[in-house]
Amino acid sequence: MPPPVFRFAPSPNGYLHLGHAYSALLNFDLAGASGGRFLLRIEDIDGTRCRPEFEAAIYEDLAWLGVTWETPVRRQSEHFAAYRDATEQLSTLGLVYPSFESRAAIALLVAAKEAAGPWPRDPDGAPLYPGTAKAMSAAERERLSGQGLPFALRLDMAAACARGGPLTWNEQGEGPGGETGVVGARPEAWGDVILARKETPTSYHLSVVIDDALQGVTDVVRGVDLFWSTSVHRLLQQLLGVPAPAYRHHGLIRDDSGQKLSKSTQATGVRELRREGASPADIRRLVGLP
Ligand code: GLU
Repeated sequence: MPPPVFRFAPSPNGYLHLGHAYSALLNFDLAGASGGRFLLRIEDIDGTRCRPEFEAAIYEDLAWLGVTWETPVRRQSEHFAAYRDATEQLSTLGLVYPSFESRAAIALLVAAKEAAGPWPRDPDGAPLYPGTAKAMSAAERERLSGQGLPFALRLDMAAACARGGPLTWNEQGEGPGGETGVVGARPEAWGDVILARKETPTSYHLSVVIDDALQGVTDVVRGVDLFWSTSVHRLLQQLLGVPAPAYRHHGLIRDDSGQKLSKSTQATGVRELRREGASPADIRRLVGLP
């Protein structure tokens, strides 16, 4: 049996906090305990929010924590071609369509829907895409893209679910409602998710699925806030013909008021704690690891 492969996949859009430290150390410990490999992946597809100094800080903070990883590190911004190919593959299956509405126009459409009655929201609480772009004629699409308008490439969720069939995943941790073991995927709860945009030829969902597959990741260990995203990941894996890893969603580290940690709260930043004299062992204790 090849060794299991774990990964920690931060976005360099801020400094690491205790929640990241917990996730990184948990992955690293699980890899060590199982004779597995540990990979670090930099999820830097968002060119407007990701910054080189945050990436440098990730390497520095993880090394200080005692985490070691294989090199070269995969940086998503260097692999847009692979994500484009995947979108192309889904497009060939007739599962992708462009939508041209701006974010502001979508917000107006949602407001109109909500004025008429309840409008569904995704598991993160965002309203589902209410637009009609799926029904647009090929000629109209040509015309709008010919004008150079920005667009988002969306997954036709109904068609994708029909093709993908019922899907499950193996959950070794626990979902927000205590879900564990064999969990039924519910990708339809997300509506017609965005796979790529004109200015960024990928999305979180697409690149995470491609990279986990290309890197041979066998065990995805990440925060429970991403639990229901796994539904979309399972569907994309099925459509693209790549294997499904096992999943273990872990609890989130919360601040004293019970809030989820954010990259902008200094109090729980790994660098701040270190500057105040905390040791790597103190950080482990703070997040409840041996
Ligand atoms: N890049 C994601 C984040 O920083 C994590 C992706 C994942 O573990 O699937 O929240």
